[in-house]
Order: sequence, then C-alpha cells, then structure tokens
Amino acid sequence: MPHKSITVSGVEVTPLCDAVGPMGAAIRRPPATMFAGSALPDEPWVLHFHCYLIRDAAGRLTLVDTGIGAADSPAASWAPVPGTLTGELAAAGVEPAEVTTVILTHLHSDHASGTVADGRPAFENARYVLQRAELDAANGRMLDEVVTTIKGQLHVVEGDAEVAPGVHVHAAPGHTPGHQIARVGEVAMTGDLILHPVQLADPGIRYLYDDDQEAAARTRTEVLDRLRAEHAVLATAHFSEPFLRL
Ligand SMILES: [Zn+2]
Repeated sequence: MPHKSITVSGVEVTPLCDAVGPMGAAIRRPPATMFAGSALPDEPWVLHFHCYLIRDAAGRLTLVDTGIGAADSPAASWAPVPGTLTGELAAAGVEPAEVTTVILTHLHSDHASGTVADGRPAFENARYVLQRAELDAANGRMLDEVVTTIKGQLHVVEGDAEVAPGVHVHAAPGHTPGHQIARVGEVAMTGDLILHPVQLADPGIRYLYDDDQEAAARTRTEVLDRLRAEHAVLATAHFSEPFLRL
C-alpha cells in the first residue's frame, strides 16, 4: 500500500514504496565500510526504495524516480527484489499513461529501471526530465536499455528548472555527475543526496557508492543546511520513513 500522502499548497505528494530489503551480496559491505567514519553496527542495512507521486490541483501527475523495475532489470544483480511501482501506482488510483512528467533524480538502476517495461517506455505519455550532465555520463545497460528507449521523450535540463507547474528540479551533483533533487513547496525529494540517517547528524560521512565522494559530501552539507533553515520536509529514497520534517 502507498504510504500516507501529504498536501502542500494544493499539491499532493504520495510516497510509493517500490521495495524494501537489504542490498544483494554482490555489493553489500559492512555498514561502517559503506559509510566511512560512522560507527554503524555490523547489521544488515535494510533499505526502502521510494518513488514519489505528485498530483497538482489540476490533477496533473508527476513521478519522481521509477525504481528497480522488473525481475530482469539492470538492478536485478543487487536489488533485494523486483520493484512493485506499477502496483503502488494502481493502489493510488493511477494508470502509467496518466503520468505526464517523470523526473529521474539519477540513472542508477534502483531509481530509473522502472522507466521501461518490455523494451518500451513504461510511461508512454510522459516527458522524462534528466540533467544534461547525467545524460552525458550515461553508460552500460542504463544507456542501452533505458536512455535509448526514452530518447524521443527526454526533457534535458541544466541546473535549476521548473518542469511542471510548481515542480522544480535543482542540480545536486556528487552521487552521480548529474544527480538532481525535486522540490514541491516545502517538500524536497532528494534521491540519493543522503542515503542513511547517520548522514543527517554528519553530512560529511562518505558513502562508498557516491561517484565523487568529496563533491557528494559538499553538496549534501550545502543542501541540508538550506533545507534545515527552511524546516523543509525531507523525502528520501532509502530511509524507512518517507517524510522527515527538518
Ligand atoms: Zn539509490
């Protein structure tokens, strides 16, 4: 079932839990290794995989991230289970064809594999919003199977942009070169800007799978400072709670 939604200035934001589970053995490391400088105990890190559905006052639908995808998706080698996004959308009363904007925070396989289904765009009527730097860095199966499939529907942006009425994206590089976050009013959907709650207390704690750990820590610190000053609502991909008031 979808988590409880929140409404900000007439815009409803609903977290969709695509999956829950530990990382697959292929890339799993002790938490204190994945988060260098933390004192996390050596217990499995159980991740949630959240996408977010935005429904504005006019009923327009924007989706932030598309999750793990099917059992044969590029995420299958390490994700705990296939994604359940389509079922989550159905539970929220939404057909994929009704979604008109899809924001991809970045092209990692647990955030963008649900972009395609059976070799076709899963959201046939949507524009897919991606930062130029992320597109330029695309490679492997995410390029061959995902980006290539949605080529005709790409909406490429650079830096900050309003991509649907009241929905903004902001570049937040480091985890990947063109990582971006999405904002609706006081809600910030942050993708993999911050992976684990331990980084809330210390944004300088590095994450093993950040492409550029230095840049990621800098971006995380800057963005969290700003969000804290606003008492914004943090909506992460991988925390167990989808919303956290700062
Ligand atoms: Zn992720």
